[in-house]
Amino acid sequence: MPMPFLLNVFAFIFGALVGSFLNVCICRMPEGASVVSPPSHCPRCGHRIRFYDNIPIVSWLLLRGKCRACRAPISPQYPLVELITALLTLFLFMKFGPTFAFAVLFLFCSAMVVITFIDLEHYIIPDVITLSGIAIGFACSFFIPGLGWKNSLLGILAGGGSLYLVATLYQLFTGKEGMGGGDIKLLAMMGAFFGWRAVPFIIFASSLIGSVIGITVMLVQKKDAKLAIPFGPFLALGAILYIFFGRQVLHWYLHMGR
Ligand SMILES: [Zn+2]
Repeated sequence: MPMPFLLNVFAFIFGALVGSFLNVCICRMPEGASVVSPPSHCPRCGHRIRFYDNIPIVSWLLLRGKCRACRAPISPQYPLVELITALLTLFLFMKFGPTFAFAVLFLFCSAMVVITFIDLEHYIIPDVITLSGIAIGFACSFFIPGLGWKNSLLGILAGGGSLYLVATLYQLFTGKEGMGGGDIKLLAMMGAFFGWRAVPFIIFASSLIGSVIGITVMLVQKKDAKLAIPFGPFLALGAILYIFFGRQVLHWYLHMGR
């Protein structure tokens, strides 16, 4: 088998294994529980999940989404998170190869997966991820040519500042709190990793996708404009789109009409 193909397979498997750990973070972080111990167990019967039943994606399919001991259903979110993380890792590896940028972006995307699923379920974005993310993104910027610490610092200010402004204005005009502090810190983290130029792209992409999905959900559910969809997952999606297509889109935009 050709070497690049094998490496891609390794990247996918590695991503799936990390996805398995991200599942633990998604379940335990909102409760403030340790992500290291105790070992995984069935939430209903307490049956400890053996290593052979803990193979990412595969075990869930083999067990048909049920606990081996008590047949309680296991959420399809587990294999979904593993598959998403595996695919993200594979695509990152195919685009960036075994580089420092790959390692940094892999870390970033893992954080986005955890944030997305926690925000969807609990409507919170853990500070422990975003605040440490701001620090890690800024620290990495010193070692990424083409980013640099000034750009990263401006990114933090632009990301946090722009959403803070939107949130303040929204609250001023409607008297309601529309955007949480978690979203502000999340966009500041993205600014730290990608610099200030990424901020308008991420805001635009996430608002566009968020509006389309929001309107669709409202039409399907036939409810008033009262439903709350968390914004964090759309920001995360916007940032991931920026990683893969940002440069091309910015280039296209800046050279439009020439
Ligand atoms: Zn069980």
